[in-house]
Amino acid sequence: MAMSALTDHSLESLRALLQGWGANPAHAATLLRHLHETAGRFDPADLPIGRTLIERLRLELPSRQSSIAHRHRSADGTEKFMVAFFGGGAVEAVLMPSHRPDRAAGCISSQIGCAMGCDFCASTFGGLERNLTAGEMVEQYLVLRAGAADAGRRLSSLVFMGMGEPMLNLDAVIAAIRRIAAPEVGGIGWRQITVSTVGIVPGMLRLMQADLNVHLALSLHAPDDLTRSRLIPANRRYPVADVIDALRRFDAATGRTCTLEYTLLDGVNDSLDHARRLAELMRGFRAHVNVIPYNPTGVSVSGTVYARPAPERIEAFVQALRGGGVVAHLRRPRGDTISAACGQLQRRSSPAVIIGPGGPQKAEAADGQTRTGSRTA
Ligand code: SAH
Repeated sequence: MAMSALTDHSLESLRALLQGWGANPAHAATLLRHLHETAGRFDPADLPIGRTLIERLRLELPSRQSSIAHRHRSADGTEKFMVAFFGGGAVEAVLMPSHRPDRAAGCISSQIGCAMGCDFCASTFGGLERNLTAGEMVEQYLVLRAGAADAGRRLSSLVFMGMGEPMLNLDAVIAAIRRIAAPEVGGIGWRQITVSTVGIVPGMLRLMQADLNVHLALSLHAPDDLTRSRLIPANRRYPVADVIDALRRFDAATGRTCTLEYTLLDGVNDSLDHARRLAELMRGFRAHVNVIPYNPTGVSVSGTVYARPAPERIEAFVQALRGGGVVAHLRRPRGDTISAACGQLQRRSSPAVIIGPGGPQKAEAADGQTRTGSRTA
């Protein structure tokens, strides 16, 4: 692949390039560390690497390959960045302030669009456009890292939970993780990174074998095949028993506590019976369940309009899980007023509008104005 920017390089490939240029390969680590530390404000002239190399880098290797097309901030402090790639296309990356005043969490995308067709997820409307390169994932990380710094925070964790299915672009995801968490570069550790999957079993096992020490999250959303296949077409290929088995193997091999994501849909997967069956499924197995109340995305792929359960029903579901011995966390919706919440990320910037069962609702835009309009840009 042609290397078009510094963000396309791993330490090894940059060392080789510098060597080919007759420059000192040891400058590779200096350059990448500086790129990561300064995020958007990188300038090779700030480094003690010699005029010749600085000039050559300026001429032949631009540092970045994306620009920020839009930036939206919601009242809860969540920020959404539309990152436009010079290679074409754009995705959304999200920055969430953590409860600690000096930290923030980031969420990045692995594909433009998504082929998975999960019924309630907006990322899949329109199908898959293309895989992102590792460099394009590093770009999103740098955008979020700079965004966190602007807010006086440090980006302390990163999830591959944006648009796309990471296991279907796994080589690039693994390459991106290796670069982001490279000890020579600093910034973020392996353990602070989570990869989320719809449950592509061969990918889960390959990630396990890559031995990266990252977290794995599985989007389960139902404890039984009948309900899960309705929501997630991939379940027909990799049913509940198989994905849970893969998770158990990941847990046993890596010792990392896995996470189950469970998007709660009113009247679909939120009964006490579902909770009991989920607890049953997890017996003798160490994993946490993240319960995510559904974020409205309008009419679904199958033409259904889903709804978020009432607060009492959500609470009862979480309590039933805990009663069954499960460690369950209720995830507060973040950034849903700017369509930056789970399942709301899309490929083009859309007006800050939520379409719920009652039709378009008003939402706070980044500039403080109130807008209404259609979700599809
Ligand atoms: N394809 C991967 C990565 C995307 S993660 C995966 O499926 O895990 C996005 C997470 O948000 C998944 O758990 C997904 O199921 C969840 N999600 C999707 N649409 C949602 C919605 N409308 N409301 C709440 N969560 C949603």
